Parts: sequence; structure tokens; C-alpha cells
Amino acid sequence: MDKKENMNLIEESYTRLFPNQELPYTTYLEYNKRLADFNANIKLEVNHLSLHLNLQWKDIDKEIKIGLVQSLILKILKKRTTTPNIDLYNNFIKQIPLLTPKTETDPILEASFHRLNEQFFFNQMEKPNLKWGKDSHRKLAHYNFHDDSVTVSTLFKETPQEILDYLMYHELLHKKHQFNHKNGRSSFHSPAFKEDEAQYPQYKDREQDITGIIRKKKRVRFWNWF
Ligand SMILES: [Zn+2]
Repeated sequence: MDKKENMNLIEESYTRLFPNQELPYTTYLEYNKRLADFNANIKLEVNHLSLHLNLQWKDIDKEIKIGLVQSLILKILKKRTTTPNIDLYNNFIKQIPLLTPKTETDPILEASFHRLNEQFFFNQMEKPNLKWGKDSHRKLAHYNFHDDSVTVSTLFKETPQEILDYLMYHELLHKKHQFNHKNGRSSFHSPAFKEDEAQYPQYKDREQDITGIIRKKKRVRFWNWF
């Protein structure tokens, strides 16, 4: 690892973000394999800023990485703004699904994907990675841009097909619509997304089915559905 280059990456990201300020932190940057694909995290302790990036970031263009680091710095400082580098970074994130190898699948999820691809996407959607998550009612299903994957809670392994399909449909719409980044904020459920979602037959009934399934699980206090 080139220590000097890494120091410059954080410093350069910061000073381009706040041109009149000097970086007020000591810094640490590490690439590792522990983090998930294209993941990264940042920590600020007193005045020490540490960054951990998945090894995959190592060979990515520096201008894109500066956008990533700037996004993380803004997050931790709870500030919102955007920069040309952050735009580059967001565009890069949107490309990741195209570049990601498809290695994970499952017969039940795959059948659901194919039904939906035919019914709603003219069979034009490329199959993402498909996997079962934990038996968690907090996170029912999730689309992850970083590894182009749909994860569905095992809670839905034995529910009626139309319920699983509705969940899957929602997640595939995330793949289709991606996200909009405006004024330093990413939005995932755009009006166009919601319009597409409402195309699912009796989608309001399906929403209720899902709420019902969740309610049956006694200890549930809340649930997230991304
Ligand atoms: Zn969603």
C-alpha cells in the first residue's frame, strides 16, 4: 500500500470539498477484503478519521474514489452538498450491476424473477444475483447495487407465490429505476417507481398480506423494506 497516495486521497477529497479549510484530522485508510463488495465505511473518533474500503476500490479511478470519500465525509459531518466527483461516484455505482458477475441464485427466487421479467419487463431485465436472507422480519427484501443482488427474507419461502412475486417486483424496480441523487440526497422511490409499482395486480392487497405476515410474528416492533 502506498501510504502517501492514501493520505493524499483523503486530504484531496477534503480540501476539494472545503477549499478554504485544511484537513483538521489525522487520517488512516485501509483496503481490505472483510467488507462486502464495493463497500466502504468511515469513522471519526475525536480528530482521527479512518476509512476502510473494500479491496475492489483499489484499482478504481482516483476521481471516482474522491467522490466516494467525499460522500463518506459529508455523511459523517451530516452535511449535504454535491460535487463533480460525487456525481462521478454515483454514476459509477449505477454501472456496478452491469459489471458484477452473477453467481448466486436459487430455484424459487429464479422462477419468481422469470415470471416478473416476462410479465413486466418484456424479458429485457438481466437477472441479478438472487439469494435468501436471514429469517428476519426487519428486513424483508433488499436490492443491493454493490453486488447487483436481490435478497429476500426466508420468511417468504412458504408464502403464496403472488406475495413473493410482489416483494421481488419491488426489488427489481430498484434495479430498473436505480436512484436519483439531488441536493446531496439519494432518493430511491421516485414517482416513476411508484407508478410502476402500482401496475402490480391488486398491489394494495399484497401490501396488506405482507403487513399481515409481519404481524403474525409476535415480537416484531418495526420492519424495514428497502
Ligand atoms: Zn424500496
